[in-house]
Amino acid sequence: MDFNTFLSQLPAPSAKRIALRISPPAERALRQGHPWVFDQSITEQSHTGAPGDLAVIFDDAHARRFLAIGLYDPTSPIRVRILQSREPATINADWFQNKLASAARVRAPLEEKNTNGYRLVHGENDGLPGLVLDRYADILVLKLYTPAWIPHLKDFCDALAQVSPASHLILRLNRSLQKQTEFLHGLSDGMTLSLLASRPPNLILFRENGLIFESDPIHGQKTGFFLDQRDNRARVEKLSKGKSVLNVFSYTGGFSVYAARGGAGEVLSVDISAPALEAALRNMAHNELTIPHETIAEDAFEVLARMASEKLLFDLVILDPPMFAQSEKQIASALSAYRRLTRLGLGVLRQGGTLVQASCSSRVDADVFFETIHQSAKEAGRKLTEIERTGHALDHPIGFKEGAYLKCLFARA
Ligand code: SAH
Repeated sequence: MDFNTFLSQLPAPSAKRIALRISPPAERALRQGHPWVFDQSITEQSHTGAPGDLAVIFDDAHARRFLAIGLYDPTSPIRVRILQSREPATINADWFQNKLASAARVRAPLEEKNTNGYRLVHGENDGLPGLVLDRYADILVLKLYTPAWIPHLKDFCDALAQVSPASHLILRLNRSLQKQTEFLHGLSDGMTLSLLASRPPNLILFRENGLIFESDPIHGQKTGFFLDQRDNRARVEKLSKGKSVLNVFSYTGGFSVYAARGGAGEVLSVDISAPALEAALRNMAHNELTIPHETIAEDAFEVLARMASEKLLFDLVILDPPMFAQSEKQIASALSAYRRLTRLGLGVLRQGGTLVQASCSSRVDADVFFETIHQSAKEAGRKLTEIERTGHALDHPIGFKEGAYLKCLFARA
């Protein structure tokens, strides 16, 4: 579909701004840079609006002093996502272009490292709340988390064409947004919009530190690849020479391919998803890496327990599970799953081998996570000597507390 025709039929944002006042604690949070205003903290509102209307928040103590401007979303408890605070702003293509340009500047060093797959915009952390934008070579994947972006898409995409042109834009809508059909105006999850090229891409290949990977933004997890683990994969490459490597929760084999290039003797990739493992085999092939690489499509906990009972041992074990804690209530069970994983991972790690264990649950505190791993090792009668604790890659900046989620321990057992 012709992109511009499509965009120009979307509704424009309303010219009438909503004026809001909020509770003192919410005001304090906002002044400290928090990017959300929740429905419950709104104390006064000029009128109700539609998703994407601009809301201006005024100071409670001083008569009508500007505090912030943001995207209004009546469908979400996150009622306003802040675009700018302190200074008033006109939200238009120029404003988006500025934001996109600063995001692109942060990522510029990646292109120099032979990397053209990266997160160009990491939502709130890059000042564009509720929106994620990933680049895979010539393709951009735009993921929206709120209908509030839809009336601004034309301006946003005009800005994008100036800052970071692409052949296609693939649109992804998060699960709750997919259900809000009355606000979608013909947008649908997975739709591919042609910008420069006419034919849709069939296979998306991109480079990461010179390695070739494929991404399937429509059927894959996240936007097709776990871009956030790039630096940890590069660390694994350096530790892999001559090693037998077990990559648990491998997805499409990111860590496996790096280990292979790093000279691993053999690699075993385990994931519950058979299509992900098929992609892992193809990713090895894209890089003409021919070391022995086996895959097992099964539950990781079961595979690890079985391998331990068969007394299989590896030199390097990577544990990169999905998010375990989706809410505050799940933190305890997440920690117990991490503890169990450490024990199972150590059960197949030879003495002197290296354990790499990651968590992508933002609700699990980094120190608590690392402590949990050590405790579990101790209970298993193993001592871990830390090599490194790592966090976020540069294309996943942390702009506010909830923005920090990734942590990873590298340790020798
Ligand atoms: N390490 C990967 C990303 C892992 S994401 C990379 O660098 O690309 C987490 C993966 O865990 C997903 O691929 C998901 O399919 C897999 N998974 C989820 N539950 C699982 C389970 N019980 N057993 C095995 N794999 C599981």
